[in-house]
Amino acid sequence: MEIMKRSILTKLFVTLASLLVAFGATARKPVKALIVTGQNNHNWQVSHVVIKDILENSGLFSVDFAISPEKGQDMSGFIVDFTPYKLVVLDYNGDNWPQETMTRFEDYAAKGGGIVVYHAADNSFPGWAAYNRICALGGWEGRDENAGPYAYWYGGELVKDASPGTGGSHGRRHEYMMNARDNEHPIIRELPNRWAHASDELYDRMRGPANVASLLYTAYSDTATGGSGREEPLMFTVEYGKARIFHTMLGHCGPTYTDNAAMQCTGFQVTLLRGAEWAATGKVKQKVPADFPTSTFITYRHDYKDSRIVKKNAHKK
Ligand code: ZN
Repeated sequence: MEIMKRSILTKLFVTLASLLVAFGATARKPVKALIVTGQNNHNWQVSHVVIKDILENSGLFSVDFAISPEKGQDMSGFIVDFTPYKLVVLDYNGDNWPQETMTRFEDYAAKGGGIVVYHAADNSFPGWAAYNRICALGGWEGRDENAGPYAYWYGGELVKDASPGTGGSHGRRHEYMMNARDNEHPIIRELPNRWAHASDELYDRMRGPANVASLLYTAYSDTATGGSGREEPLMFTVEYGKARIFHTMLGHCGPTYTDNAAMQCTGFQVTLLRGAEWAATGKVKQKVPADFPTSTFITYRHDYKDSRIVKKNAHKK
């Protein structure tokens, strides 16, 4: 009897334990993400792998790729199914997608899809109205006042300026300070109001529908480095139906996986991850890592993992 009781108890314990393990595993199941790439005026061959590694190393995401044909090739077979994904990361700047893929992407957004607009993705598709609303701000590719106003931080608000002129430029790459604007938003609530970013392009004079929902970070584009002399919006969420869209203009990709300062910046990686989690789930549960940069230290994760802390004094301004 005693033995039987024990065996029942053991069975019960084993069942409970396996249930807990199963529940735990379910709770930690990575979110499915898709990176769309294959054409870019940037080094997409490196950037899409880096973004995959950042997302997957966090344990929060599992990543697939949709890689288009090369520029100038027949695009008609590039039909993308967005429906299995909670997150679509745009690392694409190139030829028009087939109408079917454009329609599917608009549907994905309209039904509440999560989207990350990364760096030069906001250069793409100047003639696609819905895409330009998904980005809110864009540049280059012939954009001018017809694309929408310039938007920049001035007098304590995001000013929209309809003056004529080309959209999109940047000065030379340099280290710069990120300045929080909506520090109540979950993506940046726990992050410092000011942190130093590794050497990167600083997009300026961007223009578009400017349907910015929450302006997260701006940075001052100094004329001394060839910039606009304005405080430029570099990271924000976008108002677009039920979609959750995080747009980061940071992260100009370097020549190789290991020579890639802007993407090796811990600040770039953590904001990308937090923006991605918010876009995919509506919440940000990840903790701020101890190596997040400050206003005096730039930090790097050369291997895109939370494993090596490399600090460097930020240039004082
Ligand atoms: Zn760039």
